[in-house]
Amino acid sequence: MIRDNYEQLSREIGDQAVLIAVTKYHSVEDALTAYDAGIRHFGESRIEGFLEKREALPEDAEVHFIGTLQSRKVKDVIDHLNYVHSLDRASVAKKIEQYSSHTVKCFIQVNISGETTKHGLPPEEVPGFLEDMRAYSRVRIIGLMTMAPHTEDEAEISEVFEQLGILRDSLRERNSGNIQVEELSMGMSNDYHIALRHGATYIRIGSKLMGSR
Ligand SMILES: *Cc1c(COP(=O)(O)O)cnc(C)c1O
Repeated sequence: MIRDNYEQLSREIGDQAVLIAVTKYHSVEDALTAYDAGIRHFGESRIEGFLEKREALPEDAEVHFIGTLQSRKVKDVIDHLNYVHSLDRASVAKKIEQYSSHTVKCFIQVNISGETTKHGLPPEEVPGFLEDMRAYSRVRIIGLMTMAPHTEDEAEISEVFEQLGILRDSLRERNSGNIQVEELSMGMSNDYHIALRHGATYIRIGSKLMGSR
């Protein structure tokens, strides 16, 4: 089933975006099945269970941390991560600088929808945050990430994804050194088709690919 889902999603995505298989609710066996089907990018949002999957997956699997990362946990996981999608606090960047032995590709999480339950920086704080990130050479900012609001309203979701693209465009003039704001991490099982229309370059798919838990 994972193989069929993957084939279908790959056809829809083409070469526009990187497909990240979100395995947070799935077992090591499921993650390995996804690997065997050809998937090389894996998304985890929980520290628990993640190291076990990382160890089981071959070297060329890339691991994306998509959940909230507490700064006191950074040192335990950072050497096993290739990407962090949820950067929104300088304290986390500081820990990455301190503990990582490699450069970590990071997305700044932006709270476009303004929902108070969402993590991420308000858009107006992103430029200042970006400048602060220049001090951390092991943090490489590659783009922005957002989560769509909890709604069935496609127009509202569209608006959020469109705004993330506009914000990215406005930040490009700051690109230099470790700041290279190019990528858009947006779209999940229910809204990835909308995200693709608005230029997503990384999409994070759990249930539609891995099956519901
Ligand atoms: C769980 C999760 C996903 C995937 O969710 P699905 O709806 O199962 O596709 C994507 N992004 C983040 C940040 C998540 O926590």
